[in-house]
Amino acid sequence: MAKNILHCSFCGRSRDEVKILIAGQEGHICENCVEHAREIIDQELLVRDDKTSASAAFKLTVKKPIEMKKFLDEYIIGQDEAKKVLSVAVYNHYKRLQYKIDATEIEIEKSNIVMVGETGTGKTLLAKTIAKLLNVPFAIVDATVFTEAGYVGEDVESILTRLLQVCNYDVSAAERGIVYIDEIDKIARKGDNPSITRDVSGEGVQQGMLKLLEGTDVLVPPQGGRKHPEQKLIKINTQNILFICGGAFDGIDKIIGRRVQTNTIGFNVDKDIQEDMKKNLLRYVNAQDLKAFGLIPELLGRLPVVTHLDPLDVETLRSILVEPKNALIKQYIRLFELEGIKLSIESEVLDFMVEKAMEYKLGARGLRSICESILTDAMFEMPSSQEKYFTLDIEYARRKFDKSKLSLLKVA
Ligand code: ADP
Repeated sequence: MAKNILHCSFCGRSRDEVKILIAGQEGHICENCVEHAREIIDQELLVRDDKTSASAAFKLTVKKPIEMKKFLDEYIIGQDEAKKVLSVAVYNHYKRLQYKIDATEIEIEKSNIVMVGETGTGKTLLAKTIAKLLNVPFAIVDATVFTEAGYVGEDVESILTRLLQVCNYDVSAAERGIVYIDEIDKIARKGDNPSITRDVSGEGVQQGMLKLLEGTDVLVPPQGGRKHPEQKLIKINTQNILFICGGAFDGIDKIIGRRVQTNTIGFNVDKDIQEDMKKNLLRYVNAQDLKAFGLIPELLGRLPVVTHLDPLDVETLRSILVEPKNALIKQYIRLFELEGIKLSIESEVLDFMVEKAMEYKLGARGLRSICESILTDAMFEMPSSQEKYFTLDIEYARRKFDKSKLSLLKVA
């Protein structure tokens, strides 16, 4: 380089090749290098921000069980027993985490939980809401996608992949997260007695889950799926991860019924009490019933807390429509409000929606589709109209529902 011609000290371009050359104490920088440096800084800061915001976003907040239940009450209708059991289990779990216990002390074991209840009764919602309250990473996985090592399907370790993904691969945040394993009943062993012919689908997966649940170091594939030899695995300790399992356990009421009946034979149990017991046998579910259903004892040993969810009746469904903090009806009113329209819904319409949810056996999950089938036309037309009010009355609701695809779904 000629000595008397100015150059960019970073890329070496000469004065003629650049538009601007900024002088520093010992050299110069051109506009291209300034731009390039800016990009590097932005990227670097973004990565750091992501990491700090992931950690800050998951700052654990533990409340007392009564406060936890109150929080759950804001979002979930009924299910008092499950809420109470969950609040205590979760409180104890995270308390154990806050006070580092040394080796000489009594070790408090993990309180992983199983929730038994029909589909759509709020199991996932409960787990999700408690994770929101605690401010910990939360992942939902479906037990049916996993298979025993060596078979087609995902490795059980990838349960933890989802957890890592929600907290941007911040391992320490993931290590105190909550995992909800749905449809745990679908990996039950078929038949109570351990058979000679191994049941690939169920028992193997249960065996695979044992080490996750008990609290050890697990090597997790960062992208999930099957482990590839070339994939770099991430080590996660599951000691403080809370596992909540849920399932409908279809037919478990018969198992409970048999057990309860045998237990009460010979005791003078009042006929009315017996009738009442029969109405909701799930209330009496315990680990013994889950074993009879096909969960292996080793797995049950690692799921010490068992609770149930009640089936949803008409009143509960109606409350679900209007009461929770983010109740469906509140959401629709807000949507219309954002268009400058005041939506009022007649009480009869709410009864009609609940009636249809019951009639079509759609449960709480169906309430949303019912609302959509009734309100879609209005939501389509209203934003372009000058109307400021919309009253949803029963005739309108009936007419729209009967015209919808949903009305064809009626179960015999
Ligand atoms: P599950 O996991 O038991 O199959 P979900 O928790 O996914 O059921 O419930 C489905 C939807 O139904 C939820 O997102 C929620 O809107 C509604 N829901 C169900 N049960 C309740 C409840 N007890 N309180 C409020 N909403 C509920």
